[in-house]
Amino acid sequence: MDPRAVDPTAVSADAGPCPICGLDPRTVKPPDASAALRSYPRRYRRLLVRVDDDEGARVVTQRPGTGRWSALEHGAHVADVMGAVAKAVEQVQLHDEPSVDVGVGAPRTAAVDEVLDRIRTECDGLAARVDNIEGRQWQRHGWLRSGPQVSTMDLVRHAVHVGTHHRRVVEEVMATVLLGPKRTGNRTTH
Ligand SMILES: [Zn+2]
Repeated sequence: MDPRAVDPTAVSADAGPCPICGLDPRTVKPPDASAALRSYPRRYRRLLVRVDDDEGARVVTQRPGTGRWSALEHGAHVADVMGAVAKAVEQVQLHDEPSVDVGVGAPRTAAVDEVLDRIRTECDGLAARVDNIEGRQWQRHGWLRSGPQVSTMDLVRHAVHVGTHHRRVVEEVMATVLLGPKRTGNRTTH
């Protein structure tokens, strides 16, 4: 896990504004959530597609340091988390107090277009699910494998936070890579 990623065991903690991206997940309401999720595919496209830039490929695929993810890997992670949250929301809606998990493995590397396609598919899928949740369904809950209880609202807020959070981190990563030394390979070893 990249140290700048959102902790998947802190979904229900809602401790206030995130120190990295500034979002306070508690302030996200259902209609905002759907709109935010639908905005991420084009926002990540704007960040990750750098056609006019000679340095584009390097900036997107180079890791900024040991144990850190590239901008593209952060994008792949966002797609993974959206998929995991969609699954967890489905479980919580279908079953009483299921055990759920929104943790994901290391991001799989792929071409930029492939990662962007996955972000679109997963964000749209989750947004469509969110649009169908109403009233008391938002309070249906499950339990994270790590212990705490999580409501449907907590899960959806986590997804919105992850989408916003990694946009900020991607900008940081790209700035670090642009300032740092050029490397011969397109990624560092780890
Ligand atoms: Zn954040």
